[in-house]
Amino acid sequence: MAIESPPRTLRLDIDREALEANWRALDRLSGKARAGAAVKADCYGLGVDTCVPVLRDAGARDFFVAHWSEVADVARHVLPEQIAVLHGANTAEEAEYARSIGARPVVNSLHQANVWIDSGGGPCHMMVDTGIHRLGIAPSEVAANVIRQLDVQVLMSHLSSADEDTPVNAAQLEAFRALKGQLGAQELSLANSAGIGLNDDFAFDLTRPGLSLYGGVQRPELAEHIRQVAYPKAAIIQVAELRAGDHVGYNGEFTAPDAMRVGTVSLGYADGFLRAWGGKGLALYHEGRSLPLLGKVSMDMVVVDLAAEPDLSVGTWLDVPYDLPRASEATGLSQYELLTILGQRFAR
Ligand SMILES: *Cc1c(COP(=O)(O)O)cnc(C)c1O
Repeated sequence: MAIESPPRTLRLDIDREALEANWRALDRLSGKARAGAAVKADCYGLGVDTCVPVLRDAGARDFFVAHWSEVADVARHVLPEQIAVLHGANTAEEAEYARSIGARPVVNSLHQANVWIDSGGGPCHMMVDTGIHRLGIAPSEVAANVIRQLDVQVLMSHLSSADEDTPVNAAQLEAFRALKGQLGAQELSLANSAGIGLNDDFAFDLTRPGLSLYGGVQRPELAEHIRQVAYPKAAIIQVAELRAGDHVGYNGEFTAPDAMRVGTVSLGYADGFLRAWGGKGLALYHEGRSLPLLGKVSMDMVVVDLAAEPDLSVGTWLDVPYDLPRASEATGLSQYELLTILGQRFAR
């Protein structure tokens, strides 16, 4: 019989109602278009098995992953043809896999178009590069013969700077519109989360929110519609009394000015709690009371000041302040990074 490990000292609580409400809000804000869902990177770190069923039940029908390795987990919850693989198929092996599992490749280059046609063709999606220069066919290549042979369901492009007010957005919109007549695609898709906040012109037939499903807010227009979804919590694993002059953590960066009670918390780099959190006057919380972080995050642990809550003991759960716009502002980490670095040791 397998021996079960004891309960974890890290927890990631997911507010499923908030996730559902965020998808519905983004779907509503997409106007006549329907909202899909970017579920790559294990739903930005929050867990495919937790999040995809919620998104599916809310009404999402179009799911986006980046890698072929991500398809099988998502396909446990939705139909394979509802899954688009953004990196596309560069090898016959990948095309063969697409075909056998039934997921749709996003064709990003003439090479990928040839690979898909050579493997037998069939429904696919296509990404055209209108200015991000990351992945996608150049607009000048759209007229190529092999592209005309594709059965493109959704023609997409990706905005590079939708979180900013910049002429780049209008330029990408224009470039995308110009492609409209040139291809026999059934549907068009341009906007990511921030693009939904720009205006209705960017929505076309299908939007592709990711970050904002999970609580990210990159444009003020979205702030009132988007709720926090991810709530990391970490347990105290030791309580101690420091004397005046004692140093805390790597390099002894914090020095106790007086005797003080501190708690060591099971939370560190491997969990996504980087040094960017230390040395800035930030805190963990217990029932809303602030427990300031002392010194550097030191590998698997961080130490907090228990002055506000001297009676806390080993095993007490503390809240990590993970309102994404605020946490991003405070740490300098992007909202994408804050989600996707949450490590494997959290009970999800
Ligand atoms: C990740 C991704 C999205 C989702 O973007 P967010 O900014 O997280 O909303 C949409 N489309 C493509 C092509 C992506 O790679």
